[in-house]
Amino acid sequence: MDELRRAAELAAEHLAGVVDRPVWQPVPAGARAWLADQALPDRGRPLDALLDDIRDHVMPYPMGNGHPRFFGWVNSPPSPAGVAAAPLAAALNPSCAGGDHAGVLLEHTVVRWLAELVGFPGDGLLTSGASIATIIAVAAARQAGARRDGWDPREDGLWGRPPMVVYVSAEGHSCLRKAVELLGLGARGLRVVPVDSGFRMDVTALRRAIEEDRRDGLRPLCVAASAGTVNTGAIDPLSAIADLTDEYGLWFHVDGAYGALGAVVEPALFAGLERADSLVLDPHKWLGVPVDCGCVLLRDRSTARDAFSLVPAYLRDEGAGDFGWFSEYGPEQTRPLRALKAWATIAHLGADGVARLVAGTSRMAHKLAEMIDEADDFERLAPVTTSVVAFRYRPNGTTDLDALNRAIPAAVQRRGRAFLTGTRLGNVEALRACVLSPATTSADLGVLLNEIREVAA
Ligand SMILES: *Cc1c(COP(=O)(O)O)cnc(C)c1O
Repeated sequence: MDELRRAAELAAEHLAGVVDRPVWQPVPAGARAWLADQALPDRGRPLDALLDDIRDHVMPYPMGNGHPRFFGWVNSPPSPAGVAAAPLAAALNPSCAGGDHAGVLLEHTVVRWLAELVGFPGDGLLTSGASIATIIAVAAARQAGARRDGWDPREDGLWGRPPMVVYVSAEGHSCLRKAVELLGLGARGLRVVPVDSGFRMDVTALRRAIEEDRRDGLRPLCVAASAGTVNTGAIDPLSAIADLTDEYGLWFHVDGAYGALGAVVEPALFAGLERADSLVLDPHKWLGVPVDCGCVLLRDRSTARDAFSLVPAYLRDEGAGDFGWFSEYGPEQTRPLRALKAWATIAHLGADGVARLVAGTSRMAHKLAEMIDEADDFERLAPVTTSVVAFRYRPNGTTDLDALNRAIPAAVQRRGRAFLTGTRLGNVEALRACVLSPATTSADLGVLLNEIREVAA
């Protein structure tokens, strides 16, 4: 099919031209209407015409994360190998719920590679992202905790049981609260532990909270630590937390959605991660696997199977081995072939290429921190531990720094030369730049700082 070749060409041209286009641009009214308000067509049109449409109306308005001067949120450019593999997965179009085919078998390899890269002794499955992966991890924690107490939440619900508590730091990701709410523990079942000056979970405060909850008749269940927070990239003191979860018999969960890959380069920073009961990491973040691709790893995968497995008669598979079906370990039944683009990305880089990617982007983040420290109109707000720099603009004579810094990201974005986002850190408005593109150079960092100065002026 010539159209498929043309689609591949469009993708290649897009990637080759990324640096020459604005990082991001507002979608003009006409294009916006074309995108959002189309009427359902009565008749079909040739694929070639649709490719023209995509070229003219879709490709010019990207989110921006393919560009080396995109520093927003935690969104990477797609790995070239992943882009090449993605249409092949679509052409195969299996469901990786289970069964005996290439997609399912390859997922086992990818999951094992991810576990090996970050040094985690366990296995698991790919998910749409860390949000679903976290739901699986917390459900496994809830199931295992209840089993220990002699009941089964799947059978009994949570009626009449002591409220379970999940501990997360004030810098923990919102997906943890979503998971806790969804799993019936209630937002009140989420205990938010304060952070220290490095934005890491305060372990003394954690111990105090656990003790207090036990005295109050609650059931401390799980500590959800972060290995790379979205605001500052901070890594909680994982070893000390693991000691505590051991002492109190709690589930130890680590959210490494963004940061866990850092363990490839600086394992010492992540010491204790290998003691987790569950670890979430997102290949679609630092690794650059095209969206979507998350992963949950479990020390004992049977805990997730116990929480989710429900095999109706029509899905019985006498040939399934020990592992069974992936769909027994999470809420998804039909599952896409995520493994192929993840496999291609890792196989193309190799473990040493992954290390170079992580080290290179981290080096750029440290470089940016250095530039900020040297400038007298910028102030850094947190240590750099992964590849995020949290800072703010602080020109002489400005009184309302919060208002100024709050206005900066949108203004920088509109100019199209760089893209950054803001956040609230402690009690100040902050800017944050996350470096995830292997193509980002020191010159790009200079452009970012100058753009901030320009829009502020
Ligand atoms: C991105 C992210 C999440 C959420 O993951 P999704 O893939 O967006 O569902 C959770 N935690 C951290 C630290 C993240 O960076």
